[in-house]
Amino acid sequence: MTLELDSRQRAMLQEMGIRVWLPDAPTIEAPEHVSAATRPAVAAATVAPVRPAVASAAASVMAAAIDVQHLDAVGLAQEVAACTACGLCAGRKKTTLQAQTIRQTDWMVVGDPPDEDEDREATPFAQQAGILLDNMLKAVAKDRHAAGVAGAYLTNVVKCKPPHGRIPQPEELAQCAAFLQREIALVQPKVIIAMGRFAHQVLLSANPQLAMQPLGKLRGTVYRYQQLPVVVTYAPKDLLRRSADKAKAWADLCLAMDSI
Ligand code: SF4
Repeated sequence: MTLELDSRQRAMLQEMGIRVWLPDAPTIEAPEHVSAATRPAVAAATVAPVRPAVASAAASVMAAAIDVQHLDAVGLAQEVAACTACGLCAGRKKTTLQAQTIRQTDWMVVGDPPDEDEDREATPFAQQAGILLDNMLKAVAKDRHAAGVAGAYLTNVVKCKPPHGRIPQPEELAQCAAFLQREIALVQPKVIIAMGRFAHQVLLSANPQLAMQPLGKLRGTVYRYQQLPVVVTYAPKDLLRRSADKAKAWADLCLAMDSI
């Protein structure tokens, strides 16, 4: 898939402080085709070979935690809302998985555990971090409220805010992974974007050495989760603190576009 930007998308990126290295938008109606050669960061990225053994190992780890593989969207949300399977339930006011948001979308964005804003609003990627992500998605013609090719389904890697601001433990990440696996089955995305270190730790957990690599070292390569391409990038809340990384995140979204 090739990324083409119109003037509105370019303006959006500039507002976010992301330097656009693509050629200027053409003034004629038909958008100019942007060749891979004009985007060195994307062109240099390689798609990692599929690793069936890794994918099947991940599936068995995730399926072992909670059996939700028969549930539809409503049943899944109800199961999550009532879940006390790990210690993270002690920190939540609301879970962040909502049945009405589950639909087929080409993109799926998996974020880190819910923060205070996400917990209060029962929504992944809330407030300023959510606004930044929405704008970044718009720049690649994706929308969290849309379906199909224009849609991006958003979720958290675990559905409960950890208590007292602590980080989730590996067994808690593994416990909640069954819900994530069911979401993936229901949404049927064509690419998954892991935003943040806990998101990539779970999605790459079949290869522990890889999963524990610093996020910055994992960027620029397309991994696989059960045959699906996975691209690793920074969490929007971290981009709010480190503006310089926005351009890298933009390159990662371009890589995700090219991975489909
Ligand atoms: Fe259940 Fe996931 Fe919440 Fe743990 S984080 S209590 S597994 S919904």
